Amino acid sequence: MPEFDVDLCVIGAGSGGVRAARVAAGHGAKVLLAEEFRIGGTCVIRGCVPKKLLVYASRFNDEFAEAAGYGWSVPKPTFDWGKLVAAKEKEISRLSAIYRAHLEGAGVKVVKSRAVVDDVHKVRLLADDRVVSARIILVATGSAPFLAPDIAGLEHTITSNEIFDLPELPRRILIVGGGYIAVEFASLLTRVGSHVTLAMRAENILRGFDEDLRLALRDALAEAGVAFKFTNPPTRIDKTKHGLSVALTNGDSVDADQVMVATGRHANTRGLGLERLGVALDALGAIKVDAWSQSSLPSIYALGDVSNRVALTPVAVRDGHAFADTVFGGKKWAVDHTNIATAVFSTPELGTVGLSEAEARAAYACVDVYATRFRPLKAALSGRKDMVLMKIVVDGETDRVLGVHVLGEGAAEMMQVIAIAVKIGAKKADFDATMPVHPTSAEELVTLHSRSARYEQMKLDPGEAAALPDEERMP
Ligand code: NDP
Repeated sequence: MPEFDVDLCVIGAGSGGVRAARVAAGHGAKVLLAEEFRIGGTCVIRGCVPKKLLVYASRFNDEFAEAAGYGWSVPKPTFDWGKLVAAKEKEISRLSAIYRAHLEGAGVKVVKSRAVVDDVHKVRLLADDRVVSARIILVATGSAPFLAPDIAGLEHTITSNEIFDLPELPRRILIVGGGYIAVEFASLLTRVGSHVTLAMRAENILRGFDEDLRLALRDALAEAGVAFKFTNPPTRIDKTKHGLSVALTNGDSVDADQVMVATGRHANTRGLGLERLGVALDALGAIKVDAWSQSSLPSIYALGDVSNRVALTPVAVRDGHAFADTVFGGKKWAVDHTNIATAVFSTPELGTVGLSEAEARAAYACVDVYATRFRPLKAALSGRKDMVLMKIVVDGETDRVLGVHVLGEGAAEMMQVIAIAVKIGAKKADFDATMPVHPTSAEELVTLHSRSARYEQMKLDPGEAAALPDEERMP
């Protein structure tokens, strides 16, 4: 009799869990996957995929407006939120079914149940209160919206979990936060006809992204109609006869039909039984893992958002693949988490890879910046005001490209390709030696010959630096 019922029990059928289960089964492992909700996880069901569909929907607004400059007469367009939600639902159901078919085709046993870890080799499936023993347990339960600030009236709010299936498009929506989700939804909802207010604690959107792009995107969103309340998070939310009234820190109040909180996400570990077993968690409840996704207990692994490394779908997928190859395929490898390109699907789109100018200046002795801001060719006839912004950040001593940042149409697609160059350590001279594709916006990335700025700073050894008075220390 085998020692365990299965070789691998995966908890959570999101991007990471599905990939890990499928690849492990391909390596001959007997795999059971438990999921309490729908197959596909946040990305497929209420994240990246439906969000991108909504972004596409929103951009028709700009296209209709721009068409006149190209000779088209477009009757006043109308938008039907219900139709979009239904079409989106059809597509994600199709994708979820494909995920299931791939899993089952690979031989994975899929069980619809919440699962908790009973012991280092035991998982309890709550749907039928059954315990399954597994040589390896993989926790891939993702993350859930974290509601902040902790104010009266949070029970009246929604999160990105609910926004995709609202029966009606909110006429007025206040979004709390200034990160990926807040910015993407502000951009898309304002384009389909909502009055959007973005209220946040910070002085600008998208902390951590390159400063010039943050400023330019802020201005573009304001131009599109988003009202910003910077350093002005809500202090309470009250129900009124006509919707919700949101009191802000400065004493103002904003009326809204919906309030969406987008203040980050925290690992889904609550109630899984992990603390009781002694699995090491970080301060936010995420499972601590090593480079091979192994937790502090040898038979328990974790990946994706629940392990709080880089909370992005492709990272979870890669980590899932590496885990399955390492543990079941006899091929040990770990994912390199550096220079991961990412995009914010606002309009205009923001794509970025590597270090921002500020990060590079803090870490390198000599930093060269090549930047351009221009009006894309399409705008010549359409009259659209958005400018494209591109910035290349270079190590002035070695000529290596440290970061590339683009704000404008197609930025995400550009960044996927640029990331290859940055990943292999391309130099600015390699960009310069690359022939442009003309006429495109992306060609500017290989024709940026004039340096916009050079930042040189004396690097002191820590002993010398400590001896300096505060005002003379390097930042
Ligand atoms: P982000 O981490 O992007 O942004 C969180 C926002 O909430 C920030 O504006 C932050 O403010 C604010 N915030 C955090 N804590 C508090 C608090 N206690 N009080 C008030 N404000 C607070 O999180 P999101 O929820 O937007 O997205 C979650 C994750 O999902 C992202 O980190 C990303 O990994 C992923 N994602 C990726 C997308 C993509 O790849 N295109 C799209 C959507 C999500 P401050 O700036 O002051 O810190």
